[in-house]
Formats: sequence, structure tokens, C-alpha cells
Amino acid sequence: MPLISLDAARRRVLAQCLPGRPRAVDLGAALGCVTSVPLTAEESVPPFANTAVDGFAVRAADVAGARADRPTTLAIIGTIAAGSAPEPAVGAGQAVRILTGAPLPPGADAVVMVEDTDAWDGRSGQEAGGHSDAAAVAVRKAVSQSDNVRGVGGDILAGQLVFAAGTVLRAGHLGVLASLGMRKVPVYPRARVGVLSTGNELVEGADALQPGQIRDSNRRTLLSLVEEANAEPVDLGVVADDEAAITEVITAGVARCDAVLTSGGVSVGDFDYTKVVLDRLTQRTMQWMQVAIKPAKPFAFGTIDATPVFGLPGNPVSAMVSFECLARPALRQMMGHPDIGRARVSAVADEPLRRRPDAKLHFVRVRVDWSDADGRFHVRSSGGQASHLLRSMALANALAMLPDGDGVDAGGDVAVLLLSWPD
Ligand code: AMP
Ligand code: MG
Repeated sequence: MPLISLDAARRRVLAQCLPGRPRAVDLGAALGCVTSVPLTAEESVPPFANTAVDGFAVRAADVAGARADRPTTLAIIGTIAAGSAPEPAVGAGQAVRILTGAPLPPGADAVVMVEDTDAWDGRSGQEAGGHSDAAAVAVRKAVSQSDNVRGVGGDILAGQLVFAAGTVLRAGHLGVLASLGMRKVPVYPRARVGVLSTGNELVEGADALQPGQIRDSNRRTLLSLVEEANAEPVDLGVVADDEAAITEVITAGVARCDAVLTSGGVSVGDFDYTKVVLDRLTQRTMQWMQVAIKPAKPFAFGTIDATPVFGLPGNPVSAMVSFECLARPALRQMMGHPDIGRARVSAVADEPLRRRPDAKLHFVRVRVDWSDADGRFHVRSSGGQASHLLRSMALANALAMLPDGDGVDAGGDVAVLLLSWPD
């Protein structure tokens, strides 16, 4: 079977993984989802003019001449706390004590910071113990109109575009939508993604290992990768290499999921029933590929009643790399993401990253770190690179991409796919 390029394999997959039907979901369930339409504000934020500081609401004209050595004294006629109505109105020569977030009362057009005032006790003519019981305030600094006032709609004006279609909703976005009183937001729904492991050698959980058996790790990894991709993982379990059992699990998985991931049984030399079943259920549309990458050369893709089915390789690192290269971009496309690939950066190889020419693109597990010294990313191998060495994959936070050839010398530049970022 000829090798096909990763790009060609990805194109085949992406052509059949289209965005799901958008729907309105609760803000509480929308983190990481992508907006399906432009969002327009129905309210202004802030909804009313309010003070940005604790101080005194005044008429700017009244304190135009105030200076440290010649303060202007105003009569305090009331107090407005956040959450209170904007009263009383401020007349000439008057001030209202006001607390951050409280509405600006009528008549006032600026706020003097409390730090720029002294409180006066009206009866004694002495400096008062605190502003709260003072009858008058001495303003030491002039303010201009609108000083320390947050205007109506300063953040968002009613009627304006808030977020374009295709916006990935993060914490701040959801906060903005909450500030507008939105309870639901139209997004592409999370894809429900079923994950199953196939193989007679696989043991679930902590059961005792019989000779020749290994524990199933791919299902745990793939379910987690699905979750990290903001999709909804559905555990379809471990299935032995039994035609009826595999048929049943995949059929049930396709019925309740938007996509299904299998791992194991897809290599050229495999005589597993996985192949037989997938061929039959996809009505022979399953494409068995040899992708020109290492690890993760074997890969299969097809659809069952338009539901994408990914046949990932069984080797644990291959399953992960295959997911990164082919399944994750497809799932993100299904969830409306404008950007379906991981971020790529250029890095310096701090040690030689060697490979042999074999017409494949190699993904090397590396640790990437930022260096303040030269303002560049630097990489080192995270361990052994064989496709069963899962620990070095776990320790990697990036994959260095080595094109066909001999690799990179120490100090050379290398393109890196970022998998995660240190918190
Ligand atoms: P296969 O693709 O089925 O030929 O499997 C390739 C290698 O991956 C074999 O060593 C399998 O035992 C191993 N393998 C397959 N599935 C899993 C799994 N779910 N967890 C851990 N290793 C697996
Ligand atoms: Mg197998």
C-alpha cells in the first residue's frame, strides 16, 4: 500500500467531518464552544453612568478652581452606595458621597476621589474624624466633566456587535455574555465521541494479567484527549477480537455518538475482525491508509450513516499522534473551530534530533521551554521514541516535526507542534 502524505489523509477526513447543527446552550455549558452566529448586544454595559472610585459626585464647574492650598468646600447632602438609586440630585455648591459602582446622581457630572478631599464637620468647623459623618467636604483638586465616571455603554453599547461568529468562548467571553444578561448562547455543540479499544490481549482496569496480556491504556488516553479537545467522551469499552462483539459495540456507538474512535487492529499485517467489521459497516468505504508519518503510519477512516469512524493504530504513542494529526482537527472542525490545528512555533534544538531518511515526517516527543536569554523556544527529547513508550509521550509537551532527512543538529531550528503549555 503506497504512503500518502499527512495533508492528503487529513483532507480525506476533513471532507467528511462537517460542523454539527448549532444550538443554543446554557452559558454554564458553553466554555470552549464556538459561536455559530454574530452576537449583538441587547443592553448597554455599564447600563448606567456610575463612579469608578470612592469619593464625591460633584458639578465639575463648582470645583474648577480647587487647589491643595485653596480647597473648595461643598455641602454633603447624601450618600449613594453601589446598588442604590441615583439620589439625591446634586445642586450648585453640593456634593454627594458616592461609592465605587454607584450610579451618578442627576446634576453631578464628575467624581472627586476621596483621596483628593478632606471631610469637615459642619458644626465645629474642624476636620471631621471620617467622611461618613461629615457635613461638608473640602475638595483639593479640580476635576473635569466625566472624570472618574464610567459612561453608559462604555464597554458595550446596545445594538453593537459583541463577538463575531466563530469566536471560541473563553472565561472572559462568557463573563461578557453574562454582563449582557444572556442565559444561552448559540454555538456548535460539543461532539459526542465514542472510544473503544480492540484486541484479545487487552485487560480492563486492575484485573490480574494472564500470560501475554497487557492493560488497555489507549481508551483512557483517547477519552482524555477527546475531553481536552472540548468534545464529550463516551466510553465504549474494551472489545475482544470477536466479529459479533465488535459489530455490536460499533453499531451502538455510532447510534449514540457523533464520531467513533477505535484503536488497534488497523495495521497492514492485522487480521483482526476490526477490519472486517469496519469494512462491512461502512459499506466498504473505509479507507485503509499508510500515512507518511512516524509514529502513526497505519490509519483508517470511513463513515457509517455519515458518522465518522476513525481507526487509530494500537501502539499507545501512535494512537495519540494519530489523534493529534487526524482526529483532533476533524473533531474541532465538527465543533466549528476556526482554527483546527495545534499552534506551531519555531524552536532551537538544544541537542541533536537525529533520524534516518524514510520518506516520512517524523514527530519527535520533546519538552519545549521558553528562554528569556534569547527570546526563543528550546527543545530537548523527552525520552525514547519507540511507539510503545508512552511515558516519554506523557512527559512531552510538544512534538518536533522533522521532515524527511537526517534530522537537526544541536543549535539548529526545528518546527514544533505545541501540545500543552506549562501552567
Ligand atoms: P495493533 O494495532 O492492534 O496491531 O496493536 C499494536 C500494538 O499496540 C500491540 O503491541 C498492541 O498490544 C498494542 N495495543 C493495542 N491496543 C492497545 C490498547 N488499547 N492499549 C495499549 N496497548 C495497545
Ligand atoms: Mg491488535
